[in-house]
Amino acid sequence: MTERETDVVCREVGLRDGIQSLKTFVPTSEKIRWIREEAAAGMPNMQVCSFVPPKLLPQFSDAAEVAAAALEVNGLWVSALTPNLKGAEAALKVGVHEIDFMNSVSESHSLSNGRRSTEQAFAEFERVRDLRDSQPEGKRFKLAAGFATSFGCSIEGYVPQKNVLKAVERFVGAGVDEVMIADTVGYGNPRDVKQLFSRIIAEFGDDVLVGAHFHDTRGLGLANVYAALEAGCRRFDASLAGLGGCPFAPNATGNIVMEDLVFLLEGAGLNTGIDLEKLLPVREIIARNLPDEPLHGTYKKAGAPKGFPFASAA
Ligand code: ZN
Repeated sequence: MTERETDVVCREVGLRDGIQSLKTFVPTSEKIRWIREEAAAGMPNMQVCSFVPPKLLPQFSDAAEVAAAALEVNGLWVSALTPNLKGAEAALKVGVHEIDFMNSVSESHSLSNGRRSTEQAFAEFERVRDLRDSQPEGKRFKLAAGFATSFGCSIEGYVPQKNVLKAVERFVGAGVDEVMIADTVGYGNPRDVKQLFSRIIAEFGDDVLVGAHFHDTRGLGLANVYAALEAGCRRFDASLAGLGGCPFAPNATGNIVMEDLVFLLEGAGLNTGIDLEKLLPVREIIARNLPDEPLHGTYKKAGAPKGFPFASAA
């Protein structure tokens, strides 16, 4: 299995980032329906769950079942998040295409969010890497690492770019396949984003894939996408209807809105493979199961401009 060929890769993370801090459990059958319908709209790539102890996050108690169902969807690239080897082993058992290892650039965020130092997190990453390498060649999962708090942290504040570069360098040296630079709490701005992504892509772009994970906490989410795009980034996380908040900033909005992201990228002449008209109705699944959650997105409100040249339709 390889990822679908598009100019730019959008990845839906609503089923993980969007729902992880919500108390309302989304029924397993509805999670699977969401995956199937969004994939049918052309979504090439979805992070469908997190392999963590169910006691910690009951929302993901059905992770194995959801991931297995996602793997049955033809052509869909399936990834799952995990903070440790135990989760990676569970994800491997199901057979996901990609395992995303969680890690923070900020020491304080690592300690408060993951209850471990960045040093301990890296050691755990090496164990997950060894698990990948123990698999027969050609059957290995892709191993990605997410770098939370790459622009700032609600405890430490501003995170210097050299710290991010140092962390990325270490993981690249240890054999990671992709790095996901994440603005977990919405501290990034387009100038810093362009600078950091340019540096990361220049230094490591030949060795690993570089992706962007932005939150729209302070309204700069899509501007940051464009800045990363200009720096050469072609992989973006987002969630349908911008589902999800931020546990460190009450009332803040969550991930950038998938529909608006697709509109931006298509307008930039990049084929996403996604049909927006088929994507919009999938929002109903969220509305139905999470009636208290606000649904974001301005494309949904205004619709396509008359005669808009979608790159995917060309
Ligand atoms: Zn996130």
